[in-house]
Amino acid sequence: MKTPDVIVKGKDNGEGMVIHYETTKGTDVFGLAIPNIYADADWDLGPTWCYLILGKKTTLIDTGRPGNFEVFGSLLKSIGKGFSNINRIVVTHSHEDHDGNVAEIVSATQAELWAHTIYCQMISYHPHIKDGALHPELPGSCRLCRMPEIIYKNCLPYHKKRSSLKVDFPVRDDQRLPDEDLGFVFTPGHSPDSICIVLEDEVIFTGDTLLPDITSHPSLVYAFEVNRRILPKGYRRRNDVYGLMNYIKSLSKVAYLNSQPLKATFPAHRLFYNGRFNLLDSSERAKEIIQFHIDRCRDILRIIDNKPAGVADIVVQHFPPSRLAGMGKQLAENEIRAHIEIMEAYGDIRWASENRDIVQRTGTSNYLNAIEVYLHCSSF
Ligand SMILES: [Zn+2]
Repeated sequence: MKTPDVIVKGKDNGEGMVIHYETTKGTDVFGLAIPNIYADADWDLGPTWCYLILGKKTTLIDTGRPGNFEVFGSLLKSIGKGFSNINRIVVTHSHEDHDGNVAEIVSATQAELWAHTIYCQMISYHPHIKDGALHPELPGSCRLCRMPEIIYKNCLPYHKKRSSLKVDFPVRDDQRLPDEDLGFVFTPGHSPDSICIVLEDEVIFTGDTLLPDITSHPSLVYAFEVNRRILPKGYRRRNDVYGLMNYIKSLSKVAYLNSQPLKATFPAHRLFYNGRFNLLDSSERAKEIIQFHIDRCRDILRIIDNKPAGVADIVVQHFPPSRLAGMGKQLAENEIRAHIEIMEAYGDIRWASENRDIVQRTGTSNYLNAIEVYLHCSSF
């Protein structure tokens, strides 16, 4: 991938930076790095990269963390654009660092809003459907939020504004717009409504599905039962959208897209970090992340060894202490549980306690074949 031009030099982690990339066909793409600062900031994910495509329509991909509407405006200004120039907004998924400011930007631009059809359900409220939700009062995207109140209460005003939006074009899984040389790839797993966007068979915008440096947080299969009844009808019968295995399938889909090899990959975080660009080959990176999850399963089995082991102990033994500070601990436990879910499904692990906090090996490693299929070929 060729190195993008730097229009505005931002901070060392990329925040405030503006970059430019021109496709072979001459389409201009700009990247704007919107601040992404958590209330409990003991770990830096890096800013959210939002992208502007100056194609037939001017399309904005993602709108950054809430509270950055003015920053957004000033970064647009640096490339001679304003909100009124934007015709379409595409949201990669319903997480607050990707669709924060969306209500404000929709109203300032009068642009069409595009997102996966599941997104429509994620931004709306379903308080009458409890089904084991920790927070049935929060919108679909947050019914299993495990953050402390001090953190999630910051999101409440943004949720409210977001819920009033109408999605003008609900994207249905994999879809192509030949007129505009634009394609959508449905990549659920990190969230049930994740999409990647492919431009001119040359550039892929990956949202959180594919990131450099870090692997995105997988959702849990368990979320399917909690959210089954809020999903659009076609997605309720069996779980194709939650959990690590669905995420791995999505990675495989990206690795083996018909349009591979793609020339440029624009992720939503860490395009630029620690003072340098992270330029990815999306196919190679997708395979690397699948391999990473295979290795993590292997390490979990190694830690469990031949006696029952507590999930909390596995977390402490697998992750370095720096990853377990603050809300890192909860995230780390979810990661381990996502892997346990796969190995339990393939019979490699069983629960040794009723409240599902102690696991035991069965002696098999069936997970390996199950995941490796996706590493070596596309089954789509
Ligand atoms: Zn996300």
